[in-house]
This record gives sequence, structure tokens and C-alpha cells, in this order.
Amino acid sequence: MENYKIQKLTGEIKVPKVSPGIMGTESVNPASEKDMEELGFPKNLQEGWEERAVGVFKQLLDNNKALKDYMDICVRCGACTDKCQFFLGSGDINNTPVGRAELMRNVYRYYFTTAGGGTPFTKDVLRKWRSYFYQCSECRRCARFCPYGIDTAEITMAAREILDSIGSGQKYITQVIHQVYWSGNNMGTNEHALKTVLGEFEEDLKDETGKDIKIPLNEEGADVLLIAPSADFFAMPHTESLLGYAKVFHKAGISYTLSSYASEAANFGMFIGSYDNVKKINKRVWDEAKRLKVKRVIFGECGHAWRAAYNYSNTMNGPFDFLDNRYLQPTHICDFTLGLIKNNTIKVDKSANDEFIVTYHDPCNVARASRMGSEPGDQFTIPRDLIKSVVNHFVDMRKGTTEAETFCCGAGAGLLTDEIMQTRINGVMPRMQTLYDVVEKYHVNYFATICAICKTQFSAMFPMYGYERDMVGGILQLVSSAIIL
Ligand code: SF4
Ligand code: SF4
Repeated sequence: MENYKIQKLTGEIKVPKVSPGIMGTESVNPASEKDMEELGFPKNLQEGWEERAVGVFKQLLDNNKALKDYMDICVRCGACTDKCQFFLGSGDINNTPVGRAELMRNVYRYYFTTAGGGTPFTKDVLRKWRSYFYQCSECRRCARFCPYGIDTAEITMAAREILDSIGSGQKYITQVIHQVYWSGNNMGTNEHALKTVLGEFEEDLKDETGKDIKIPLNEEGADVLLIAPSADFFAMPHTESLLGYAKVFHKAGISYTLSSYASEAANFGMFIGSYDNVKKINKRVWDEAKRLKVKRVIFGECGHAWRAAYNYSNTMNGPFDFLDNRYLQPTHICDFTLGLIKNNTIKVDKSANDEFIVTYHDPCNVARASRMGSEPGDQFTIPRDLIKSVVNHFVDMRKGTTEAETFCCGAGAGLLTDEIMQTRINGVMPRMQTLYDVVEKYHVNYFATICAICKTQFSAMFPMYGYERDMVGGILQLVSSAIIL
């Protein structure tokens, strides 16, 4: 293993000594020219990029009043400084939300204010932007604590949009989006491969349960179109939740289908603040819902996917008047499943999970950037109620780090890439400290979450911090064990 700096777990989250610029050498890999072109961006940094960057910045300020306010209204009160997990993990002042935003405000002051000051858009500014705007997971924790509601995630998205617009893209995100366009999903998996995998899962389900539990693909006329993150088809522990979805639909007797054209819940367009790409990816879901003549759309366990689908679908690609008018917005699989348990359509045996003492990690995009169910706060209660309905032992992590104050996993918004591993290690640290707490006090041995990125990041980080990677799992994985078929 590389020589990474990994903090010792004590349960304490200390404000670190400030080490300016310590993370300045961490940078993401450049996008390929082909991916950039496919996404509608210049293929590389071309002559005149400085003027273009300033021009795009001006367009964003003209079109996005919130961004302009965020540039103007910060009073440097410092309330956000110790709220970002990337600062807590690194001590780099540029990883405080205000420090990160200052990287953009400096340029803003130079070009767009009468008072002046600041710095022109130079190569050094470009280098810093490529570094620090990819050490922000767009988690919005800072916005939760800022008295003015400044949302640094929006600033990061704008910075990335400017970078892409001048041909300075990030490899991982652009590659993933391009893959969605030609294959339907982040993994670049075609229909044939998907069919094969789903067939294997059906065999596994038969071996496990003795029942013919189907995982249909591209079936016209099903009641539900199920949109899962593509990690659910291939990666552990994600696949276990997919088996849970299948069992729930089977037992409830509700027909459903997956789609190969829309075989991805994730929407990486959001990570680069690109409205056009968010909309284009999202449209695949609704085109497929219409083509397959389903009545409703249900989303699997993925945090930002849920935000993109639940919050923006109707305004970007609606209205969806071809659906059952009770379900014009997508439903979350947790909400759907809990409803079936509550109305006794599904019966469960909690003791099937008695080996587990479970805690729950709220993914940022579910907790702070979206909703679920019908009441405010249901995005916190529904996942917890579902867990408690299928396990006997549940304990929450410490207050102030859960629900709307949850920490990020440290890899959201396109940070789940190995060249910035130290950033990921830094970013996950506060959550690992709160986990340490409940492991020590309550012997927690199952860390549930409903986000594909969280699952992948925690599975990689747990061994680095001394925990078994198989402690990480989905909620539908717990349902899968408890459901009585
Ligand atoms: S959005 Fe999250 S990662 Fe970005 S600066 Fe704010 S707290 Fe840090
Ligand atoms: S909390 Fe808000 S106003 Fe205060 S420094 Fe941070 S961004 Fe600025």
C-alpha cells in the first residue's frame, strides 16, 4: 500500500492544526479528448482559455442568482470552517468551505467587482481549482451550518463547469458520462452482458430460496420500471441489495422490469454542474418508462441518483402524464418496501438478522439535498424505520453527525477515483471516528447505507481504518435476509 496518512481512530473529531496548501499536489487525471468532445466540451485547453473561462463565469453569474449571492455575501464568520470533512481530515485551509470558495471569489473580485483586488485567471489558479474543487464532494454540510446559507457545493459545481467549458475536464466523471451515452450505464455494460448477469442472479435466488424469482429486463407492460445503480449488477455488497429488490417485488406480486437502455440510476452530469448532461442522462429514464408503458418508476439504493431523479426529473423532463397519476414522482425502494411491510403485504423475520448490530449512515444527497415519503424528515425516518422493521438491534451514531448533519463518505461527486486516494482517506475520517464510537460502545458490526458511492468508498476505506469491509451493506440486503417468501 502507498504511504498514505491515516489517522488513528479514537472516537474524537479534533479541529486540526492548519497546514496551508498541504493537499495542493493532489489532483485529478485529465479527461480524454474523446470523452470531452462527446460531452460537448472543448477537447483540451486551447489558446484563449483564460478569456473563455471569464466569459463562462459571467454567464453563470448572469443566469444563477444564488451563485452571485454566494460570491458577495460571505462575511468570513468562520462558522463553516470546521464543518467540512476534507478540512477535518487534512488541515488544509483551502479545504475549509470558505477557503475553497475564496479560490473562486478571488477571480470574481478581479473581473466582476468595482472594488477590484483578487487575482486574474492564471495557470496557477487553474492548477488550484483542479486540485481543490475535486476535494469537495458537493455534500452541502457547510451550507447546513452557514448562517447565510452559502452552499459551497454550488460553487464547486460552477467551478467544474467552468473547467469543463475551457477543456480542462476530469477523467473519471467524463468517462462515466460518456459510457452512459453509449451503453446505458456507468460500467459500459451492454444488454447481452446484463441479461447474462441477471440470469445468474436468478439461479442464485433459486439455489437460496427454491423459488423462481425473476429479475426481468426490458419487459413491456410491467407495472414498475426499477432503476438501480449499475454497481448493483456487479459489485459487492451492492448485488445483495439487488437480490433484496427482486424478493420484495416477487413477494408483493408486483410486476416490474429493469431496462438496458436506462440501466443506471446515477447521474454524473450533476457532479460537473452541467445542466445539459444531467437532463440528457435523466431523459433516458423517462423515455424508457414511456416505451415500456410502466405505471411508476422506483429507484434503488443510490444517493445522488435519488436527488437527480426526485428533485429535478419533473422540471427537466416532465410532465410524466403517461404514468399512474398517484406516482408522478419516482418512489424510493426504501419507502416502497416499508409500505409493503406496514400493510402486511410482506412479512419478515427479524431474527434472521440477529447476528447484526446495525448502524445507519445517511448519504448526503438523500439527507441534505432531497426528500422521501410525504412528510418533511421522512428521508431520515423511512430508512431507519425500515432497518428497525427487519433487525432487532439498531443504534444510531452520535447526534450532530447524522440526518441533516451527516458526514460525507469522502468520495461523492466524482471523487471515487484512485489518484486522489489521500483525499478520500481524509474525507472519510470523521465518519470513521463516529463509527469507532458505536463499535466500541455497542459492538456495531453492520454499517448500512443506501448509496452506491458510499458503499464502494466505505468498502475500500474500512480495511484502511482497521475494519472488515463486509461490515458495509445496504438496507435491502437486510430486507433480503429477513423477508419470508
Ligand atoms: S460541500 Fe461538503 S465537501 Fe464541499 S466544502 Fe462544503 S462541506 Fe466541504
Ligand atoms: S459560514 Fe457562511 S458566511 Fe461564514 S465564513 Fe462560512 S460561508 Fe462565509
